[in-house]
Amino acid sequence: MVKILMAAGPGNWERYRAPLETALTKARISGDLVQDAAPDTVDYIVYAPSADLQDFAPFTRAKAVLSLWAGVERIVGNKSLTQPLCRMVDPALTEGMTEWVVGHTLRHHLGLDRYTQNPDRIWDPTCPPLARDRRVAILGIGALGEACARALMALNFHVEGWSRSAKTLSGITTHHGRAGLKTVLAGADFVVTLLPRTPETENTLNSETLAWTKPGAVILNPGRGALIDDTALLAALKTGQIGHATLDVFRIEPLPADHPFWGHARVTVTPHIAADTRPDTSAEVIAENIRRGEAGQPFLHLVDRSRGY
Ligand code: NAP
Repeated sequence: MVKILMAAGPGNWERYRAPLETALTKARISGDLVQDAAPDTVDYIVYAPSADLQDFAPFTRAKAVLSLWAGVERIVGNKSLTQPLCRMVDPALTEGMTEWVVGHTLRHHLGLDRYTQNPDRIWDPTCPPLARDRRVAILGIGALGEACARALMALNFHVEGWSRSAKTLSGITTHHGRAGLKTVLAGADFVVTLLPRTPETENTLNSETLAWTKPGAVILNPGRGALIDDTALLAALKTGQIGHATLDVFRIEPLPADHPFWGHARVTVTPHIAADTRPDTSAEVIAENIRRGEAGQPFLHLVDRSRGY
């Protein structure tokens, strides 16, 4: 019997218990899913940073810590964590992110705000350009960035991606490194930030790099708040270098009531809802990783501690 400790904060036990038990049965794993156990009896830890558990040292038997979150910045630097750490790549989370990115891109591409709020009843028959005439830069072309890129490309947007290492992705032009950032941002109408939060990605969009986009570009940030220098963004919005910013993530969440993003005419705040891990599909990912651990096979979505993601 494999002992699986669910350390994922309030509410998640109720949400995940039944889906995890179903997924374990489907994967033919005889699992004992518990909320509490003697640390040296636990084989796997299903984890979210909202849990009380912060010291992993007593879990001497644990073969892996399986994160329910895609972003692991709140756990990756934990010195007591010596066990393998797997992040979440959940097909339904990816679907949610794709819908958020495509939806907010289309809002600005089609200029929908002009029609949803038109108190002066202005009749302006100017048609928006086609997607084929718009450039989208996706900073972070990993699991989520690639899915968003492909969905936008299916609508004919011209999409290019940026990553840490050189990447070959069929049909997607990619860039990497500092010079690559300048190239991917050059002339971008939309910039989507889907990077993990690491020391290297902090303030990727700053006063220098925001100037590399097309004037009036739209920023969509569903990645992490720290990817953007808030002060530089506000300044770029003021000059019009950035036309609008739609932000889902912030340095402090909930976004403080007195933050200038609230109520800014050209900032849209969504409350970290771009993509949630969904119990049914993520439970299957966790069960598959436990199956792999028990079979001595490599884990999926293993975090590289030295890279921080
Ligand atoms: P992923 O598969 O690990 O992809 C990360 C991408 O970022 C990779 O392309 C990686 O490059 C690139 N990258 C990392 N460091 C970089 C650097 N220093 N310079 C340039 N590129 C860099 O991660 P994912 O699953 O797509 O998730 C991305 C992020 O989305 C998560 O870390 C999380 O912060 C955020 N997220 C937000 C929500 C939400 O609801 N708002 C939900 C889920 C996730 P390589 O390809 O070279 O490794």
